[in-house]
Amino acid sequence: MARYTGASCRMCRRENLKLYLKGERCHSDKCSFERRAYAPGQHGQNQFKKSSDYAIQLREKQKVKHMYGMLEGQFRRYFHEADRKKGVTGHNLLAILECRLDNAIYRLGFASSRDQARQLIRHNHFQVNGKKVDIPSFQLKAGDVIMLKEKSRKNPLVLENLEGAVRRGVPSWLELNKANFQGTVRTAPVRDEITMPINEHLIVELYSK
Ligand code: SF4
Repeated sequence: MARYTGASCRMCRRENLKLYLKGERCHSDKCSFERRAYAPGQHGQNQFKKSSDYAIQLREKQKVKHMYGMLEGQFRRYFHEADRKKGVTGHNLLAILECRLDNAIYRLGFASSRDQARQLIRHNHFQVNGKKVDIPSFQLKAGDVIMLKEKSRKNPLVLENLEGAVRRGVPSWLELNKANFQGTVRTAPVRDEITMPINEHLIVELYSK
């Protein structure tokens, strides 16, 4: 699938938020956002421009889209799916995004970023409920068990990531069994468990125009 291949750090600076797109680098003093916390480009330091409602809604949508590594078409499809479900559309949208396999693998700590998680999935390192799954957008449900394949358990990248994951912590809707290289979806994620600064109602307003 086509994907944004530009400079990731520009997106954090554009959204004025650390999106954690580059793994360990994001937690180090090499993080560009820590050094230049203003928008990229010639007028990036002009932070005092008044934004319209539309611009604020658009930026919120872009922020979440970049955070999860989505392109517009797929993000919009998720929105329509969230809208069709019972409950609050914004909460449903975030739950759908969180339940993607690439996100769960990142959250469990097997990968240092969602991008890296996508790569590991495509290279066939994981199984879900004992079956091969190489689709990063695979939707997980409560009770699903994600497992690192036997042959991948000595992968130094994954071992290093799992050590780093202790610092990040695992969200309460997931459970990590580090000794067995296994993660379980305890329950579907609810809004309170998604702690990133997201104003999902702005995205709903944008797409409902
Ligand atoms: Fe964003 Fe910093 Fe990570 Fe770059 S290193 S992607 S600026 S959090």
